[in-house]
Amino acid sequence: MSIAVITDEVAGRHQVPLRHPERPARYPAVMNAVSRVLPDLPLTDAPQASRDMLALVHTQSYIDSIFEATKAEEVVQLDPDTWAGEASLEAALAGAGAACLGVDMVLGGEADTAFSAMRPPGHHAEPDKAMGFCLFSNAAIAAEHARDRHGLERVAVLDFDVHHGNGTQAAFWDKKGLIYASSHQLPFYPGTGEAAECGAHDNIFNHPMAEGDDGADLLAAWTEHLLPAVLAESPELIIISAGFDAHKRDPLGGMAVDVESFGLLTLRIMELAQQAASGRILSLLEGGYDLESLTDSAANHLHCLAYGTLAS
Ligand SMILES: [Zn+2]
Repeated sequence: MSIAVITDEVAGRHQVPLRHPERPARYPAVMNAVSRVLPDLPLTDAPQASRDMLALVHTQSYIDSIFEATKAEEVVQLDPDTWAGEASLEAALAGAGAACLGVDMVLGGEADTAFSAMRPPGHHAEPDKAMGFCLFSNAAIAAEHARDRHGLERVAVLDFDVHHGNGTQAAFWDKKGLIYASSHQLPFYPGTGEAAECGAHDNIFNHPMAEGDDGADLLAAWTEHLLPAVLAESPELIIISAGFDAHKRDPLGGMAVDVESFGLLTLRIMELAQQAASGRILSLLEGGYDLESLTDSAANHLHCLAYGTLAS
């Protein structure tokens, strides 16, 4: 199996106020996972997404507003949790660009799997709104790019971040062929993700989890409910919104998932990808706010993607 890791050090320069959980130190934390698992892998540079790529999901007025807001020299607040400073536009464009390049590499046969090690995350950003630390809806943009550029019809985003990806859901809601499946703590931020939220074409699958649910609960949710539902849609490409904030030590999430379970879930997703999508997977870093748990969880996820086995 071949894997590409796409990144840019600008991900470590996206500024937020002091003590904000989505902080620059998350970048070296995820890169520690990369170097632990794939010490000899040459990294692939993340390109800046074009405005046309952003417009696959976002409104022109929203894109304009982000370009405008990030001209300021000081850090500006975009929503109660979301901030942007001088390097934030470059970082967010590289995040969306990495996601699109990952699609190109996996669909072009340059890699079986691609992992984007970027911040800020993307799954809360809605077509016309920054939200929950996120500026651009990277997973949704990548899925639309796979259809726009490569002619795919059915693309699935699988999201195991502890938060519901309201942004991805909003982008996919009335798009036949764009499939969103999510496990997430509920009730919890952002408040969406009830099982009854199914999309205009029954293309959305939400599986709410309870506070305190552990790795076995997470695996059961996916193997018994979400993965069979996704498989029935026959997706041609699997995009993972890989958030590691369901880890038991995460300061934001209230779930109790262990490192090994993130690996086991990754292996189950890989089996699905083999059955439906010729094994093609793009994984995008979303949340994960305890640095040590983020490194260990991302390392196990990457080890599975690269070698097909859990990290020892
Ligand atoms: Zn999250």
